[in-house]
Amino acid sequence: MTTVGFIGLGIMGGPMAANLVKAGFDVIGYNRGPEPTRRLVEQGGRGADSLAEAVRDADVVVTMVPDSPDVESVVLGEDGVFANAKPGLLFVDASTIRPDVSARIAREGGARGVRVVDAPVSGGQQGAVEATLSIMVGGEAEDFEAARPVLEAVGRTVVHVGPAGSGQTVKAANQLIVAGTIELVAEAIVFLEAYGVDTGAAVRVLAGGLAGNAIFERKAAGMLAREFTPGFRLALHHKDLGIVQAAAREAGVVIPLGAAVSQLVAAMVARGDGGLDHSGLLKLVEQLSGRT
Ligand code: NAP
Repeated sequence: MTTVGFIGLGIMGGPMAANLVKAGFDVIGYNRGPEPTRRLVEQGGRGADSLAEAVRDADVVVTMVPDSPDVESVVLGEDGVFANAKPGLLFVDASTIRPDVSARIAREGGARGVRVVDAPVSGGQQGAVEATLSIMVGGEAEDFEAARPVLEAVGRTVVHVGPAGSGQTVKAANQLIVAGTIELVAEAIVFLEAYGVDTGAAVRVLAGGLAGNAIFERKAAGMLAREFTPGFRLALHHKDLGIVQAAAREAGVVIPLGAAVSQLVAAMVARGDGGLDHSGLLKLVEQLSGRT
């Protein structure tokens, strides 16, 4: 039986670890706050009291933590993943972080005999719960094949997109598209409401045409009800738009609409709304339109 150490049992990591248990993996979960680990144990996993304990006996370690510095400290720290890895460990970072950081971690892993893939995910909390995530994987082809059973237990669309860091580059493009789409759906909703249109009916018909998109399917009902419990926190999307802006600049590519939506997301975070779901961008559109 493959033993998977799972670090970071938050909104995404919790259900992903539970799905690995369901798929028959021996899962040892670790989270700094103890409550999520307790939940995983209730769901049939094992709980570790320390990061080292979750890593020591693992064949595969998965991390699902917020940002690049978090992954760096969890993986490269004194008592981190690499320091406790058994020889030949397969390390899968599912967090969304900077592509250059993923590439560096892969190099450092290689130097210590750890196989590394970056495997950021898309599909949100619902995708994590339903094991239908889209997973974009960077790394060596044979390491991708080794990670495939774990990834297919939590995702439906699992694609190798290139060498180390490439998964993160594709995820950055994903976050650009998602933020832009949410902003346009929010603008459309506020526009339709200003005309007293039945927005539920409008969303149904729009979703069936060329304007159809996953935000209509997953987020529009919450937006119409002004229900912005995360889901995906604006603070995390702010982080991701920083990643895509820096990477685009590095490549000499301009993303003018991406830059505009980045500023709107930054405004939400700056005024203290970073804990809302990213569909909460609607609040800002309403306020800019003087409609609150
Ligand atoms: P979350 O609910 O905040 O979970 C993050 C987890 O990491 C928490 O359990 C947190 O628990 C732990 N953590 C935070 N900092 C840590 C550190 N320095 N060391 C060790 N553990 C740490 O976030 P999430 O929404 O699951 O997102 C996780 C990652 O997935 C992010 O990179 C995000 O961009 C990406 N993602 C999220 C979604 C989504 O819809 N939510 C979708 C796709 C991708 P403690 O603070 O108790 O340690």
